[in-house]
Order: sequence, then structure tokens, then C-alpha cells
Amino acid sequence: MDSEETLDPQDWEAMKALGRRMVDDMMEYLRTARERPVWRPVPPEVKGRLREPLPLEGQGAERAYRDFQQSVLPYPMGSYHPRFWSWVIGTGTPLAMMAEMLAAGLNSNLGGGDHASVYVEAQVIDWCRQLAGLPEGTSGLLVSGSSMGNLVGLAVARNTMAGYDVRREGVCASGGPLTVYASREAHSSIQKAVELLGLGSAGLRLVPVGADFTIDLGELERAIAVDRAKGRRPIAVVGNAGTVNTGAFDDLAALADLCRREGLWFHVDGAFGAMAALDPELRGRVAGMERADSLTFDFHKWMYLPYEIGVALVRSEEAHRKAFSLTPDYLTHAERGLAAGLWLSDYGVQLSRGFRALKAWMSLKEHGLRKFGRLVRQNVEQARYLAGRVDAAPELERLAPVPLNIVCFRYRADGLDEQALDRLNQELLIRLHESGTAAPSNARLDGRFALRVCITNHRSRREDFDLLLETVLKLGRRLVEEASPRPAGGGRPA
Ligand SMILES: *Cc1c(COP(=O)(O)O)cnc(C)c1O
Repeated sequence: MDSEETLDPQDWEAMKALGRRMVDDMMEYLRTARERPVWRPVPPEVKGRLREPLPLEGQGAERAYRDFQQSVLPYPMGSYHPRFWSWVIGTGTPLAMMAEMLAAGLNSNLGGGDHASVYVEAQVIDWCRQLAGLPEGTSGLLVSGSSMGNLVGLAVARNTMAGYDVRREGVCASGGPLTVYASREAHSSIQKAVELLGLGSAGLRLVPVGADFTIDLGELERAIAVDRAKGRRPIAVVGNAGTVNTGAFDDLAALADLCRREGLWFHVDGAFGAMAALDPELRGRVAGMERADSLTFDFHKWMYLPYEIGVALVRSEEAHRKAFSLTPDYLTHAERGLAAGLWLSDYGVQLSRGFRALKAWMSLKEHGLRKFGRLVRQNVEQARYLAGRVDAAPELERLAPVPLNIVCFRYRADGLDEQALDRLNQELLIRLHESGTAAPSNARLDGRFALRVCITNHRSRREDFDLLLETVLKLGRRLVEEASPRPAGGGRPA
């Protein structure tokens, strides 16, 4: 019947040609990344173009792609660029980009069923388990990232440690307030998770850190004892494998011991720091990670894959399933047929889930784990190189140790107090972004504003860090000059 419509192209050959052009264009874009600015502001007219009326009639694939090329492609975040070092953001890779396209083509729903995609995910989860050193039989789930991984891990912790059926009775039946412990340097997603789990932000104790930004174990023990005496119910400790500010590692083995002694759940947030396990020299930092009851890390940070992909691992499959499994009639798991197989929706919040496993599976096959280990090492060596150059420059001041891949420093000048230095460095960072040269982010360390360079980038080279410092010094000198009023006709400082 002619009147029946579809979203498929009328001309498949034209669609294939468009697809080939998109791949060609994007590969060329990535090949020439270095030739463009890292970032530039989205001009007002482009923002205007991105506020069009809802299209009621179609304009075709060619036109949609042209709009992407004109309004989106020229103003990206810049995370694909060799000099992007903001927050903790990976670079993306060409093959993983194409894996995303293949996954979308198949359009599998990874909620469950008996199809190859779910076994690919199960395989990737098991590879993650091996990477983290957890025992066979460990359960897991690919998630949007470590925020969701922390939520999954702490949800299982809460339900397992509460000592009653929390899913039925809710947290109000707990007797004393359920309480989770982490260091002050823990990521904000831990607090979000604790809030969402109904414990309230008061149910998260943020324990002080030492000069190396790792959790103070004595303070932790004291906090647990004091809380118990006051009728609170400690349930879990979160260990940091690589803090977001400075890349610090809590003493995970000591935390595992403490959790065993105190009868607490041990969750590890290894968002990017878990990758230290890939390097022989760094491996010692994550000793104890393999004793976690639950653990999360990301592929979209220090494994460089495109967004979104992280993993949650839970040592006890039973505890994991019990926290999330809910099977109405319409999701009955069958013995045979399409509805048999593996139901990953039993292990997390989402029912419908994308095939994010494919890009990890293909990328690990493409490069091998050892190559990722070498890139982790390369980034750590780049951080050490940058720290060394900062230390050697009298106008620069390093503000934290560099245990991993993050360098925090600031521009300094004599005669400026702390507030003035904060203001100068804030403005310096913005001008650096606006220059398009490089994109670090910022941290506040002991109250001081720091430029923060976090290297989870497989495209960076040493010369990129040289250019960063050259630009920081130039901008810093200019800002000092602008700030100091000079007598009319006075000499120009060098
Ligand atoms: C980035 C990060 C998170 C959150 O991970 P997402 O992938 O952004 O959800 C959690 N913990 C640490 C230490 C992080 O660096």
C-alpha cells in the first residue's frame, strides 16, 4: 500500500553516500584536531540558530547534516583536542565512535534477552572485574558513568547493611540514621547518591584529609565510634582511588581492614584512578581495591572512550540482584526464545539500556589492555614533566602533590595577597580558555584557587605542556601589568 510510511530513506544509495561522507568528515576533523583552537565561545547568532521553531515538516538528511556542520561542529567542548585538560574528561577514539554507530544501527535494548549484545556486555563486565582484581563470580553492570556507579554500589550497600527489608520498609524503619563515610575530597556524586538513597546529606560524614589529601584514618575511626555512641548506624565507607581534585589515593588496604573490623561495606570510587592498576609502578596505589564490596570506574575518562560508559562492580551477585530485581509479567524471563538469556535490568535502575558495551569490547580488541596501560603511564609522565617545569619557574607555584595525572598550580607575583592571587588566576584561566590555546579547569585547595591540569588525553604531547606554560606566563605577566597602576609616561615592564 503506497500510503504506508517509514523512516527509512527512499534512496539508500544516497544515504550510504551521506554516511560515508560523515565518517570521512569526522575522521579528517580528528586527524587535524591540533590545527583548531581548543575552545571558542558560541557566537550569539549561532545560539540564535539553535533556537528554531519545532520542525513540523522534514527538510531531509542532507540539510540536517549541514545544520550540524554549521552550528554544532565548529563550537565543541573541545575534549577531543590534544590540549584539553579540564575536569576529568577522556578524548574519544575513532573506532569507538564508529562502534557507537554500529550499536545504534542494531538498536538492541540491553535491558535483557537472549541476543549477542548482552553477552558482549557480560564479557566487558568480566574484563572490568579482572582489571580491578575482583574474584570470579563478581557481578556488575555498565552504567552512564561513576555517578551512577556510586549510586548502584551504595544502593546495594544500604540494602545489604540495613539488616531489614529496606525496599519494603524504607529508610525510616532503620532505628538509627544509616550513615556513610568518605573523605572531604570525595566526589560530589557520593553525596548525590546518599541523598537519593534517602539518608540525607547528614547521612554522609565527610572525614578530614591529611596534607596529601588522603583520608585521615584516625579521624574516620573516631567519627564512626562517636556516631555509634549517638545512635547512628554506620553502614559503609567510600574509598577514593584517585580524587577529583588532586588524584590522591586513600589507603585502600587500611580501609578494607577497617571495614572488616567494623562490619562495614567497602565501596571504592575509582572513576579514573582505578586505571593505575594498569601500570606496574602505580599498581601499588590501588592495593586493597580488590577487596571492595563494590567498585566503580569509567571508560570515558582514563580509558579515553567516548561518552557515556562506566562500570559498577558488586562482589556479591545475590546482593546486587536483590537490590534492583523486579519482574512484572510483561518482563517475564523465559527458559527459551528471545526473552531467555541475561536480564541486565535486574542489576540497575534502567530498564531500557543502550549497547555501550560494544565500544569497550571493540576498543579493547583493537588496542589491547597493555596499550591503555602505556597511555596511562604516558599521561602520568606528562604530569611529572609539567610539575617539574612549574617548580622550576619562579612565577609559578605548585599547590598540591602530583601522585598521578593532575597538576594544580597558580601564577604568582610579589606584593599580591591571597585574594588578589585568586582573582588574577581566575581571570587568567578564562583568558586561557578564550585564547583557544589550552583548557585546564580549576580546583580550590586549602582555600586557594588553582589552575588544574588533568591529563586523561591520548593526543597530548610534551610540546603541548610547553605551550600551556608559555601562555600562562604571558597572560600572568599581562594581568600583573594591568593591575598595577603606572605613572603616566612610566616605563613598560618587561
Ligand atoms: C568524574 C568522577 C565521578 C563521576 O563520574 P561520571 O562518570 O562523571 O558520572 C565520580 N568520582 C570521581 C573521583 C570522578 O572523577
